[in-house]
Amino acid sequence: MHRATKIVATIGPASSTPEILLQMIKAGLDVVRLNFSHGTADDHRQRAEYVREAARQAGREVAIMADLQGPKIRVGKFENGKTTLIPGNPFVLDSECELGNDDRVGLDYKDLPRDLKPGDVLLLNDGLIVLDVVRVLGSEIHTTVKIGGELSNNKGINRQGGGLTAPALTAKDMEDIRTAMSLGVDFVAVSFPKNATDMEMARQLANIAGAPYGIKPKMIAKIERAEAIPALQGILDASDGIMVARGDLAVEVGNAAVPALQKRMIRMARESNKFVITATQMMESMIYAPVPTRAEVSDVANAVLDGTDAVMLSAESAAGKYPVQTIETMAAICVEAEKSEQSELDKDFLDRTFTRIDQSIAMGALFTAFHLGAKAIVALTESGSTALWMSRHWTHVPIFALTPRVGSERAMAIYRNVTSLHLDTSSDRDTALQQALETVVSKGYASRGDMVVLTVGEPMGQAGGTNTLKIVRVGEPY
Ligand code: PGA
Ligand code: MN
Repeated sequence: MHRATKIVATIGPASSTPEILLQMIKAGLDVVRLNFSHGTADDHRQRAEYVREAARQAGREVAIMADLQGPKIRVGKFENGKTTLIPGNPFVLDSECELGNDDRVGLDYKDLPRDLKPGDVLLLNDGLIVLDVVRVLGSEIHTTVKIGGELSNNKGINRQGGGLTAPALTAKDMEDIRTAMSLGVDFVAVSFPKNATDMEMARQLANIAGAPYGIKPKMIAKIERAEAIPALQGILDASDGIMVARGDLAVEVGNAAVPALQKRMIRMARESNKFVITATQMMESMIYAPVPTRAEVSDVANAVLDGTDAVMLSAESAAGKYPVQTIETMAAICVEAEKSEQSELDKDFLDRTFTRIDQSIAMGALFTAFHLGAKAIVALTESGSTALWMSRHWTHVPIFALTPRVGSERAMAIYRNVTSLHLDTSSDRDTALQQALETVVSKGYASRGDMVVLTVGEPMGQAGGTNTLKIVRVGEPY
């Protein structure tokens, strides 16, 4: 079954053997996420090697995303590993406290007291615990427990409404970027960016660290702070893609605001020619159960209908009992949801003008393929931009992107409705088109009599050079 929506899965203890990874790839895994909030550099190195090995065995490229921890603000550790907070009782967050107890706990971000004032609301442990700030005295934040519960070591802290000033890239992130580049990752996800500048800085660091390895990773902004919402267009312009990071975002802006924000972010990303991943708790119950809840099925299907490029798994695949089944189930939900999705291509094109030749060819190919009822679009591409532009609009015609560059092949793994394939293109245009068509036919994606729309650039081998559109029937004289 052809599936257009891509699957990103975090790997961790439940999915770090070559055997499981191979099964996950066969089940439909497109992009592996290495979560740098957990594990050592050696863990990530080992996992990246296993992924490359499993992908080789499966015979297809799988991209790798390094997800940086970012300035997630956390409480320190407790003498007994945890405490229980009782509603109405006082509790102190103290940046100078070494080891916490029932009255107070330390902070990893020492400047937090400076960011807060009486009346602020703090949400701990993904919002399960709520503290009202009563006063700030030097290093101490005095609070009253509003919603209590168990608080254990290193749980995260968010402020309702956002506004904490921690810088977007920590010293650990910079070190992790270097590690990630040495692993040859394809995507870097930046946590908690506030604005475009945060993304520009991250990109600069990644490009410098990637230079010795010849990589310029695609940069993903995780939208998970309240401040990022008004800055979204600037962040999109400075990034290659975004992640709707619903976990932290929901804590900052309130659960109820997230579904509408998800729709808006997906629409804005596509209109800006950027890709978008919808993340967090999509199949949460499958951490323990072999089947998802009805609500989870609807959530995944609705993200597909919103137009997301990819849906993401976190603990489900990193630490859950059913990493392979979760991917299989998710893939089946995507396929079913896509069937019901109508193309709005003609509407999308109203009032559109193009200034670039390559983009005009991409749009012309898409429009033609859609209205002719072509079986496939076959794009010969160097950078992958042709495939990206085409994939910003939904039609049921699958896009096959053939490239000699392995970096482009992996990056395109996240684009919706794009199947990326390797092709060592000939420098002769007609030979290259013939080879491209044969590759797609030999893999069973088109057969004799099918109409196929091809795009290519002349002279061959240059990024941004797409300037030719050709329509053929498979098997007829060429
Ligand atoms: P995280 O990011 O899993 O790294 O916290 C995603 C989210 O916040 O939803
Ligand atoms: Mn997050």
